Formats: sequence, C-alpha cells, structure tokens
Amino acid sequence: MRTKINLDDEKMVGSYNELPPNFKRIGQKKFAQSDFFTYSPVKTQFRQVRGLSEGDCLTSIWVYWFSGYSYVVVWADFWSRKVFYGQGKLCEHDFKIMESRMCYCRSKCSKCGYTQEIDSSD
Ligand SMILES: [Zn+2]
Repeated sequence: MRTKINLDDEKMVGSYNELPPNFKRIGQKKFAQSDFFTYSPVKTQFRQVRGLSEGDCLTSIWVYWFSGYSYVVVWADFWSRKVFYGQGKLCEHDFKIMESRMCYCRSKCSKCGYTQEIDSSD
C-alpha cells in the first residue's frame, strides 16, 4: 500500500489561503519542544491566510512540513513585533509493526500508510 497522503495535494493540505487541517495555536514553550527544532522539514510553504488576525486581514505564514505529516506554522505581527506559533498533523498514526529484528523496526500506519523505519544501531 502506498501512502494516502500527498503534501502537494491542496485537498489534503489546504490551499494557499487556508490554514492546514487540524491547526492549533501553541505557545512558545510547546514551540521550543516541537519538531521544528528536532527534524529537517521535508517541505516549506509560504501562505496568506485569514483567521489569525483581527478583522478580515490576511496573515502571512510559513508552514514547515515534517516527515510523518506533522507541521509547524510560524507567523508574526509586524506592528506589535510579536511572533506566533501553531502546529498540527494530518494523521493520528496507528502504527503496526511490519518487520522487527535486532535494532531495526519498520512499522506502517494503518490509516494513512506512512511507513517509519527506526534503526537504533545508527
Ligand atoms: Zn497515519
């Protein structure tokens, strides 16, 4: 089974003017412990979205996608000189072990097909 999620498909990740699905605001402490500082993003997107600022204004955001379909969003309020953060994921993975030996484990999500390999001998 191939993965069911495609990060290039707007129907799955939202369009240029939308927040990604399952978005939630987080504070600085959660941001400090987020994937942003642990992994290299697999994709970055610049978007302009509604709903993050007062009124009907567009807010410019950066979306950092990580392996496993999680993401972190960063944006700033120019006039108040503050930075804000959000995060989310496209799938609450339900991993099933496909292969396991010694230090190697390969498991696959039964919902989206995402496969992760962990080799703890590295
Ligand atoms: Zn999944």
